[in-house]
Parts: sequence; structure tokens; C-alpha cells
Amino acid sequence: MAKMPGFVKGLQITARTGLQTMFPDGLRKPIPAPTRGAVTVQYPHEKEAPPDRARGVIALKEDNCTACMLCSRSCPDWCIYIEGHKVKAPPRRAGGKPRNVNKLDRFDIDFALCMYCGICVEVCPFDALFWSPEYEYSEPRIADLLHDKTRLGEWFETVPDFEPYEAGSEQKVKKVPR
Ligand code: SF4
Ligand code: SF4
Repeated sequence: MAKMPGFVKGLQITARTGLQTMFPDGLRKPIPAPTRGAVTVQYPHEKEAPPDRARGVIALKEDNCTACMLCSRSCPDWCIYIEGHKVKAPPRRAGGKPRNVNKLDRFDIDFALCMYCGICVEVCPFDALFWSPEYEYSEPRIADLLHDKTRLGEWFETVPDFEPYEAGSEQKVKKVPR
């Protein structure tokens, strides 16, 4: 059988999906879905609750951040800006040498550039970044979509606790450190 050109296949899928949307019960019961009323809501007069694990905004737990820059270097949009400096910290054990640790001076995320891919949250080795389902932070000025560490820290209060894993799962259940 001759191979179907890609664009014909694409049109076929589009037509099928369109028909399924218009006639969810199939063509034997041709009652168009729009007659049942709109499935959208009139935001902001009506609001829908997003799922707990929705990618609304990124929250920072500053105490966990070591300014290692891994998230910033992994971000495909280069929209995480971190600055820090070294400080001396007490030794881990009695008699040991004082340690050099990074102190975070700046941690900004520009949500005007962020594409919500979640890579930064995944790569952070110190559990310092979390998703919050909050999404109402639009701004009249695009520059105000740059959230600094104070603002990112405030989002942390809205991070939901992890649900327990399914029975039989061997993964350790991690809790959001509060
Ligand atoms: S979600 Fe993706 S684009 Fe947004 S800050 Fe994180 S890595 Fe960058
Ligand atoms: S948020 Fe995580 S990955 Fe990013 S600098 Fe802090 S510790 Fe490193």
C-alpha cells in the first residue's frame, strides 16, 4: 500500500478530533456538544481550582539553597539569576577545620521568560525548589514578573505536601521540609 503523505494523515487526525469534540456521543446521536453549554469558565469572575501538582509558580526554600548554580546552568531559558559569596562556617566535627560555604545574595526567576519546563526543580540536589499550583501573579509591567528570593520564598507557603506513594512503592516518601 502506498504510504499516506504526512499532511493527509495530519488532516485526518484533525478532522477526527474535531468531530469527537463536537459530537462526543458519536454521529449516531448527533447532538453537538456546544448545546450543552460552555465548558470554559468566565475567569476572573469564576475560578477553577488547579490540581495540587499543577506547575503554577516556583517556590524557593532559601535555607536549603547552597548557591550551587546547577538550576541556573540547566535552565534552557537562562531566566534564573543567582549571586552568592563564600562565608566561613563552623567545622562539622570538633577539632575540624572551618568550612567555606556559599551564602545566597540573589536568587531571581524571571517568569516572563520561564517556560515552566520544571528542569530547575528536578535538578536541584538540595530540595530547594518546589512547584506551587498558584497562578495568579500576572502584572501590568512585564519587569514585575521577575520574582526575587523574598517573593519566591513567600510562594513556599503555598506548596502542597507530597501525597504518599502507592502501596508497594519502594521509593522513600519525601515531605516538603517546613
Ligand atoms: S521551569 Fe524551566 S524555564 Fe522555568 S526557570 Fe525552571 S528551568 Fe528555567
Ligand atoms: S536552588 Fe538548588 S540547584 Fe539552584 S542554586 Fe540552589 S541548591 Fe543549587
